[in-house]
Amino acid sequence: MPRTADLPARSAGGTAAAGTPSAPQRALQRLGLVEDIDLALHLPLRYEDETRVTPIAALHDGEAAQVEGVVRSVQVETRPRRQLVLRLRDAGGELVLRFLHFYPSQTKSWAAGTRLRVRGELRHGFFGPEMVHPAVRVVEPGAPLPQTLTPVYPASAQLPQAYLRRAIAAAMQRAPLHEVLPAEALPPGLPPLRDALRLLHQPPPQVPLAALHDHSHPAWQRLKFEELLAQQLSQQQARRERESLRAPALAPRTGALADRLRAALPFALTAAQQRVVAEIGADLARPAPMHRLLQGDVGSGKTVVAALAAARAIDAGWQCALMAPTELLAEQHFRKLLAWLEPLGVTTAWLSGSRRGKLRAEMMARVADGRAALVVGTQAVIQHDVRFHRLGLAIVDEQHRFGVAQRLALRHKLRDQDLEPHLLMMSATPIPRTLAMSYFADLSVSTIDELPPGRTPVLTKLFDIGRRAQVVERVRDEIGRGRQVYWVCPLVQESEALDLRNATATHAELGAALPGHEVGLLHGRMPAADKAAVMAKFSGGSLPLLVTTTVIEVGVDVPNASLMVVEHAERFGLAQLHQLRGRVGRGSAASVCVLLYGGPLSETGKARLRALAETHDGFEIARRDLEIRGPGEFLGARQSGDALLRFADLDDDAPLLQHARRVAPLLLAEHPQAARAHVQRWLGASAEYLKA
Ligand code: ADP
Ligand code: MG
Repeated sequence: MPRTADLPARSAGGTAAAGTPSAPQRALQRLGLVEDIDLALHLPLRYEDETRVTPIAALHDGEAAQVEGVVRSVQVETRPRRQLVLRLRDAGGELVLRFLHFYPSQTKSWAAGTRLRVRGELRHGFFGPEMVHPAVRVVEPGAPLPQTLTPVYPASAQLPQAYLRRAIAAAMQRAPLHEVLPAEALPPGLPPLRDALRLLHQPPPQVPLAALHDHSHPAWQRLKFEELLAQQLSQQQARRERESLRAPALAPRTGALADRLRAALPFALTAAQQRVVAEIGADLARPAPMHRLLQGDVGSGKTVVAALAAARAIDAGWQCALMAPTELLAEQHFRKLLAWLEPLGVTTAWLSGSRRGKLRAEMMARVADGRAALVVGTQAVIQHDVRFHRLGLAIVDEQHRFGVAQRLALRHKLRDQDLEPHLLMMSATPIPRTLAMSYFADLSVSTIDELPPGRTPVLTKLFDIGRRAQVVERVRDEIGRGRQVYWVCPLVQESEALDLRNATATHAELGAALPGHEVGLLHGRMPAADKAAVMAKFSGGSLPLLVTTTVIEVGVDVPNASLMVVEHAERFGLAQLHQLRGRVGRGSAASVCVLLYGGPLSETGKARLRALAETHDGFEIARRDLEIRGPGEFLGARQSGDALLRFADLDDDAPLLQHARRVAPLLLAEHPQAARAHVQRWLGASAEYLKA
């Protein structure tokens, strides 16, 4: 095959010598195909079989095949519409080729007498066998057939397949694909990496195509295993590194703060809460830093567990920091913890982005000299100028809402200390098992699997948005009974394209529809002070109806709210709706969540919402969301990073994941160099990200 002049010599991105990169070279870079190894790992979506030629007479209806023949006639027909029609003949038959889109010049290049190889799907038309828009190639008589299947790669408009194929074939010659893993680490029956990649790029014709397409072929398995192993190695390495660090051992004292807090609570802990408190307590007593995720469905009572952990740290003479993703949520934690802990003599500080100037300086001073034992805030808590006196425990609420960069900043901040603080992360979005085993392998997990007693499950109803007026009546009734209502809108600003109702308009409209009742408005673009004021009013019970965007999604706790209406529910993710719904049903009153959907809704769209109405199990909902939306939802900012799995699928490849999990510790112990080389090859600079 001839090489084009602009094909890069060293690597796809190495264009310095050639001057300005060509359009296909720039397109390669945009796809992230820079080094030879990137190209070698750019795998085909599918294959075309150009290795054999089928006689026209042997073609079956509906079959995709390649035929070779000589053009007998070529003409432009105008009826029933303009089209180019070729008649192609081989030794035993004749075939019509139809092109609805064509260049006039093609009547010349495909003139009668030209030999063509065409590939397409056969159908029997009115005039006998034909192919519509087959792929066509002009060939010399006796031109050899390719020996391997032809790969079709993910490409782009500026990147022709032919160019990409040549670039990849060239890169495969140069890429460093030597074996770094000892044979005993591999699952049985998998080929060496180089062979696996060669096969995937250029499969011999007898390879079972189905196994390539569904990625069950051993060559595919090898790639998936490589990837999963790299991830396991980096996670388990991170765990080892962390376990070699020292943290303050926060041993319990009898009659201590945590006990007094427990005694002062207006409720008894559920059995599940007691269990996780004990799990966290055991970690805190050890001289190695805790790295634990506390997961529990919305309303399961994670805050009090966090408060008890904080009390334990404070009691031992250390500071505790609690960080939440939004100011609203941080503020609510602050109020709650203040109410619980201040009467017991604990001093607190509040740090948020909106608090500046003298007050902020005063708070920072209190944190720095240790006067504030408990520090609550948003990510302002991890700003570079914040210094702790003796930080012993950091608690992060809704950890998946923080990006990778923020989680890394938190770790680095904590590392300033002589001793590493303990880390407790909380989440209401349960992590499915396969994810926990892979991305969160460097994490211990505690689960609150029980709701506090006396809750009636929220009744969820689906309504077409056409019945909105009826729903407004329902709101009026609820308010009349002294209850409170959330009305959730998807967007703040009217977007003509999406035709979403904007919260401001809805606010005005509901105000007009419900005279004599105050209607509050809460959205992300309001100044923090206004948000806090509205929220305080709603929490205090003097505001019956709150029109809001998803800023209330996480953690807001107003037990008297018993009705929630979500407009355009079809635009939300399932886990997100579940979170929203968790804002009601927090008291003893029976609560209702109305999901208003804008028609017409597809069957799957309706099935999704129905699933939500049928189950209250956050785990089940998370599982379905994982199915529908992939792992990005759970991994936060990781979804945009390159740390996500490219080849493996956590559910389908669970056996490979198991194997990788098992051999990773052996590799780390017995072949540390191979382990390092493998992680470097697969994760490179992003290895650090996987630890966040
Ligand atoms: P989440 O897990 O969603 O963060 P919260 O911590 O906000 O839930 O708790 C939800 C509500 O349940 C709060 O009002 C809290 O005070 C209350 N609560 C927590 N634990 C119990 C319990 N054991 N018995 C009764 N109410 C509880
Ligand atoms: Mg919470």
